[in-house]
Amino acid sequence: MADEAIEVVVDDSRSTGLPAVWSPSSVNDFIKCPLAYWWKYAQGWRTAPNAVLTAGTLVHGVLEALLLLDPADRTVDAARSIYAVQAAELEPDLDARIDREQLRERAGTAMRSYFELEDPTAVDVVPDGLERKVSATIGGVDIAGTVDRIEFAVGGVRVLDYKTGAAKPQYAAAYWRQLLLYAQMLADEGTDVADIALMYLGDPARVLVRPVPPAAHARAAGDLGTAQVQRTAYDESARWEARRGALCGHCPFRSVCPAYTDRKVPVPGSSDSHRRLESVRELVLRPSRQADRDMVGDPEEVP
Ligand code: SF4
Repeated sequence: MADEAIEVVVDDSRSTGLPAVWSPSSVNDFIKCPLAYWWKYAQGWRTAPNAVLTAGTLVHGVLEALLLLDPADRTVDAARSIYAVQAAELEPDLDARIDREQLRERAGTAMRSYFELEDPTAVDVVPDGLERKVSATIGGVDIAGTVDRIEFAVGGVRVLDYKTGAAKPQYAAAYWRQLLLYAQMLADEGTDVADIALMYLGDPARVLVRPVPPAAHARAAGDLGTAQVQRTAYDESARWEARRGALCGHCPFRSVCPAYTDRKVPVPGSSDSHRRLESVRELVLRPSRQADRDMVGDPEEVP
């Protein structure tokens, strides 16, 4: 389906306010569909706990702990031990809705894929380069996030993001944009970023690496600036753009989205719309902005 933009009037009376600081994934959410972004960030609807997100959290934690070891100690057995400990720590708090079997399968595939793709004893991580928090003000717009891994590369550093699934072409542009925004934040700190990399820990496993030319930095900064200007205009007018496209098929808001005019739906944000969203299994209402972290996740993992 070709992307199609439709302006939608919303009821903002339940809004908790928009975040002052963007994250790379929230920029992607906004560009994908401003109306879905509004539901997530102004109304507080989040993806309910699921096996895919939890496997991603587990695998990220295991790889971080593994690469914190001395290079010679980063063995398969060490990874197994770390996995067992972290999986056991997760278990008591796991939501009842999470399919344990799917979680184990996805995390297991990701760990096998990881060892197929690289030898961790050869990974040269920069100091404090794992799960590094970064932030910057780019073109007057604040942005922050957490980089999975920063390692030494020829001509500077490599910024790498793990994806605990196979590569899917429909999400590639958003993933690269996310990495370019991280690269831009690091460049702002004075770090020379040589390239960016996506490590897909699915089946098949693969690593894709791209250089970061100046034009790419400029494009990422431009995307952020445009998102900020558009968001302000939508917020002030309470009219948000719904971007119908191929990804709508995975959107948890579709059943109440006015862009689908084949049936009548309540005004987004109204009590009626809110009630209907309460019955969508994939969604949960964020308790408060204080409890909010950048949990919206990847476009692959969170429709
Ligand atoms: S169904 Fe499509 S147009 Fe509607 S909110 Fe979701 S992504 Fe946007």
